[in-house]
Amino acid sequence: MNIKQLARKNIQALTPYQSARRIGGSGDIWLNANEFPHAPFYQLNTQTLNRYPQPQPHALLAAYARYAGVNEEQIIATRGADEAIELLIRTFCEPNEDAVLYCPPTYGMYGVSAETFGIERRIVPLKENWQLDIPAVKIALPEVKLVYVCSPNNPTGNLINPDDLRELLAMTEQRALVIVDEAYIEFCPEHTLTSWLNTYPNLVILRTLSKAFALAGLRCGFALAQSDIIQMLLKTIAPYPIPMPVADIAEQALSADNRAVLQKNITEIVENRQWFAHALPICECVDKVFDSNTNWLLVSFHNAENVFQKLSEAGIVVRNQSAQPGLDNCLRITIGTLEECQKTLAVLCAMNTMGTAI
Ligand code: PMP
Repeated sequence: MNIKQLARKNIQALTPYQSARRIGGSGDIWLNANEFPHAPFYQLNTQTLNRYPQPQPHALLAAYARYAGVNEEQIIATRGADEAIELLIRTFCEPNEDAVLYCPPTYGMYGVSAETFGIERRIVPLKENWQLDIPAVKIALPEVKLVYVCSPNNPTGNLINPDDLRELLAMTEQRALVIVDEAYIEFCPEHTLTSWLNTYPNLVILRTLSKAFALAGLRCGFALAQSDIIQMLLKTIAPYPIPMPVADIAEQALSADNRAVLQKNITEIVENRQWFAHALPICECVDKVFDSNTNWLLVSFHNAENVFQKLSEAGIVVRNQSAQPGLDNCLRITIGTLEECQKTLAVLCAMNTMGTAI
């Protein structure tokens, strides 16, 4: 028996998300997954692992509500923001009827989650300045139930213009949800849209502890929205999605004491990013360093393939973005420790325009 043929047709055809861990690599400087470079230390306070956890741990929601400045009824905790991306599709999209819309170059999971559930993907590329093409989005809207917008956008690093987001929210009112993925918002917190939640009934904001909170291994994220959306999502989420140790550590990470640590983390990364962005243009192989509101730099090279290879030989793993529309010859380099940035710079500066040794 050919097991492959037993699978749903869209799964047979599916190319799974190429996560940084799935692609792999080798070396000791990992700058390919937008992780924080140091591991925080936590100890478990909860020892009642014989019991199921609360479906939505109350203390966790209360802590995140305080942190984000929203009400507890406006939050659902998920297994990373990735689970929320999928949960929205499972809850709101009818297979073979509805569509989701997103605007590449952007985060790959919006498309992969839609494909997994057999939901049509409407792809409206960002404009050359990496902003929304509002007229094109408007034309593509029929049948669309969910519009995913990432701000700041992975991998381009820019914020999406808030006036365009207001227009998008207005044109989709009563017919579609607009999901603004704020996975990296801690690196530019003044740009969060949480204050819009009470105004727009169709706005959903995604958050995660994987980036500035340095907890990618914990797998804890959140969706924020008006309570009627949250109630619908609670119908479809797994019965016990947040393991007790996850809630325990996430609550500690969100405590008032730890918020000072978070601030220190953010300052370190932003300072390293500024140093690195300033230094990179001296390397011959670098074509352009793009502005970033995040914990990475998108860099265009004269020959990204060779540069990627040379970095890899030096044990530095970055992410090649050349396959994304408009990102020919671009690599995304996560900001690590200052030492990691310095080592990366030294390898890059030892290459000529073609990305071979000088
Ligand atoms: N959204 C974006 C834009 C991301 O880059 C990521 C991380 N790869 C996620 C969501 C998923 O984050 P999490 O680790 O919370 O699942």
